Amino acid sequence: MFTGTLFIISAPSGAGKSSLINAYLMQSNPHPAMVSISHTTRTPRPGENNGEHYYFIQNDEFEKLIKQDAFIEHATVFGNYYGTSKSAISQKLAQGFNIFLDIDWQGARQVREKMPQAKSIFILPPSITELEKRLFKRGQDSLEVIEKRMQKAHREMSHYAEYDYTIINENFSTALEQLSSIIIAESLKTTKQQINNKNTINQLLK
Ligand code: 5GP
Repeated sequence: MFTGTLFIISAPSGAGKSSLINAYLMQSNPHPAMVSISHTTRTPRPGENNGEHYYFIQNDEFEKLIKQDAFIEHATVFGNYYGTSKSAISQKLAQGFNIFLDIDWQGARQVREKMPQAKSIFILPPSITELEKRLFKRGQDSLEVIEKRMQKAHREMSHYAEYDYTIINENFSTALEQLSSIIIAESLKTTKQQINNKNTINQLLK
């Protein structure tokens, strides 16, 4: 039975994080992978569905879940609560899924502390100009929100060195290849192989 790895993925909005994760999930991979669905108190954007992109809940419900210790991590991002529920993770890892946590640097710190075996990846845009262009192209948010996000982008990016891997998403297919390579390399770590290919190794060393 394959044991999955928890991959923390952070980036400033507009770096292409969601597109990269989605493209990875769509391609054929040696091991099943999934993205953990977070809880948030922000309002859904057009086209976002409850239970698919996020679990959209109210402030009081979120605070109740915090009190119940339901989250492995939670943070306030752009004035809204975001959190990853514990139940979304442990069972799926044991079932052999690689899990992506699309979370910010605050959440990444909390997860690293609780699950040091998790691997973290930071995705950077190739330049500030390109980041700005991508945010405008998206057209989902108001100008005010975009400006706020540009300010936050710098703060988010200042944490890239806390991560195990850094991908600069200039060319999408290259970045996707790099993401896939990190995931493959992780599954080939000797400590992972000792678990995932225990029988083969035991046979060979008998
Ligand atoms: P958005 O509202 O654009 O979907 O996400 C805004 C930011 O919140 C992104 O940087 C995203 O990675 C982060 N985020 C999404 N879900 C979670 C979560 O469960 N925990 C934390 N800490 N951050 C999250």
